[in-house]
Amino acid sequence: MQKHQHEVIIVGAGGAGLMAALYASEGGADVAVVSKLYPTRSHTGAAQGGIGAALGNMDEDKPIYHAYDTIKGGDYLTDQAAAKVLAENAIDAVIELERYGLPFDRTPEMRISQRRFGGHTRNFGEELVHRACHAADRTGHMILQTLYQQCIKKQVNFFDEFQVVDLIVNDGVTCGVVAVELSTGEFHIFHGKAVLFATGGWGRCWSVTSNAHSLTGDGAAIALRRGVPMQDMEFFQFHPTGIYRMGILITEGVRGEGGVLLNDQGERFMNRYAPSVKDLASRDVVSRAIYDEVKSGRGIKGKNYVHLDIRPETVNKYFEEDGSDTRIDAQYVESKLPDILDFCRTYLGIDPVKEPMPVQPTAHYAMGGIPTNVDAEVLIDESGTVLPGLFAAGETACVSVHGANRLGTNSLVDLVVFGRRGGMKMGEYVKGVDWAPLPENAGEEVEAEFKRIRDSKGKTKAYELRAAMQQTMMDNVGVYRTEETMLQAVEDLKELRQRYYNDITIDDDGYKFNTDLMEAWELGCMLQLAEITAQSALRRTESRGAHSRDDYPDRDDENWMVHTLAYGSEDQQSSDYRLTADKPVDLSLWEEEKRDGVAPDKQKFKPKARVY
Ligand SMILES: Cc1cc2nc3c(=O)[nH]c(=O)nc-3n(C[C@H](O)[C@H](O)[C@H](O)COP(=O)(O)OP(=O)(O)OC[C@H]3O[C@@H](n4cnc5c(N)ncnc54)[C@H](O)[C@@H]3O)c2cc1C
Repeated sequence: MQKHQHEVIIVGAGGAGLMAALYASEGGADVAVVSKLYPTRSHTGAAQGGIGAALGNMDEDKPIYHAYDTIKGGDYLTDQAAAKVLAENAIDAVIELERYGLPFDRTPEMRISQRRFGGHTRNFGEELVHRACHAADRTGHMILQTLYQQCIKKQVNFFDEFQVVDLIVNDGVTCGVVAVELSTGEFHIFHGKAVLFATGGWGRCWSVTSNAHSLTGDGAAIALRRGVPMQDMEFFQFHPTGIYRMGILITEGVRGEGGVLLNDQGERFMNRYAPSVKDLASRDVVSRAIYDEVKSGRGIKGKNYVHLDIRPETVNKYFEEDGSDTRIDAQYVESKLPDILDFCRTYLGIDPVKEPMPVQPTAHYAMGGIPTNVDAEVLIDESGTVLPGLFAAGETACVSVHGANRLGTNSLVDLVVFGRRGGMKMGEYVKGVDWAPLPENAGEEVEAEFKRIRDSKGKTKAYELRAAMQQTMMDNVGVYRTEETMLQAVEDLKELRQRYYNDITIDDDGYKFNTDLMEAWELGCMLQLAEITAQSALRRTESRGAHSRDDYPDRDDENWMVHTLAYGSEDQQSSDYRLTADKPVDLSLWEEEKRDGVAPDKQKFKPKARVY
């Protein structure tokens, strides 16, 4: 096996990985970024709507309002001190991106332009605020390009199209990763003092998803296999507006610009579900509303979707009804949502300026993942013990700022804020520690697992198992769940795992770009994460945020105001996960208010009933 040595090894080149690389190298560390995709193909580049920061360029805004929205949006499972860090650091991070050259849209006064987004309010829920900074509907693309250019300038070392398949921990200290060079099939060892996982989400566990094909949860599954627990896995967000059947995302920015959701009777049904914020209620609320409309037979033509309407005449009618002076025209829609119009014209043959778009909820975002503190250090138990040298940031991590449900635009903030903090912390960390030696057998275990997949001569193709996994997750661990559906998913997934380990076969026995082999390995990661998601969801007997149970419709703060952790067993093939539910939620902002003697009925950060 070829060996490389760099002080800091960053796995993943999306927004989180690149931000961490930039800051670790600014701190003087020798940094390598190892990525299975060419960096600018990372999913961050698909982010459309915007990045939230309380700049107050369009109307009054403050970080504390942003923190409040984040906590309320997370249905009070958000760690409150972390939400404050997110909201406060967001402002610096956005201004810094601008200084790096990010071409944000502008106000007439040449300030960064901001748009409304679901759940973003002023003065603790009083009214909607413009907080989402954006570059048309290509915000993520611009962030990724900007950060990549800065990394090149800082001479960060890139290993593109190297897929990390294992983490090396020696005697309780992180000392590197094992990767497959995709163009040759060769194994490489990267010896480092610190490793940061920024491998993104795992939306590909579901059949209808907004996520790219590459989002298979590799980093989370690898960490799990090396003893790191997964936090709050039952919370996976369904974005309300994916293109019907395809799942491709239609940004919430469409509703931010005035777009409305209509049922088969042409009714703006969000008036009934969320009378104050309507179409801009948080994503869990809107996804459930669509589901309920469809279940009540009010889907378009009785089918499984509703309409999202951004036609200027419709939007202006509702602006008038809502008492707003804003009016838009076709040219405005073209300038603010060019990519969305392009997707619909290309994939659906529909022109959204003239016709409504067919949409349905689509699996979108992992709130749970690798537990970390606000400096991106990975935690291995409920009391916050750090695994030395291991870091995680971005969607694969769980800080937890998103709690039970993430607000739109808060992921891009999470990437830049905690990527940056992680990069700085790693820069410091590597200066203070010696090189931990690599174990003698580094890489052998995972090499054997690849040999097993290569040599396995069963009857089942990996893609058949993948389709079955995606279907059971969609049907049984989706927008709504019940004990019955989740038990079904757990049973199905157990059977799929058996077949994965005993009856799999691949067609390609080559070494160069063997996607057949790599996808079979990725399926192993997804099966583990799907199983943990189903088991964690089954265990949480309440509804909170994105976790909605028909059989337990209420939030239960007395028993479930806790983070859950799921530990894997030593044996990768086993589905005996140890689930715990005793990691406390940080309620420090609420505690501060209580200490400051704020009247109990005025306490803002105290969990409140779910009223929208
Ligand atoms: C269509 C869409 C639109 C979105 N819009 C918004 C928005 O407007 N605002 C917002 O805040 N959020 C948005 N999100 C969410 C947000 O974009 C993502 O959560 C975020 O970009 C994830 O960034 P990341 O850096 O964690 O990972 P990603 O950008 O997903 O990158 C993952 C990286 O990890 C690498 N990788 C993965 N596995 C391996 C491996 N085994 N070995 C080596 N490398 C590996 C990949 O090569 C890639 O570089 C959107 C998401 C989608 C899907």
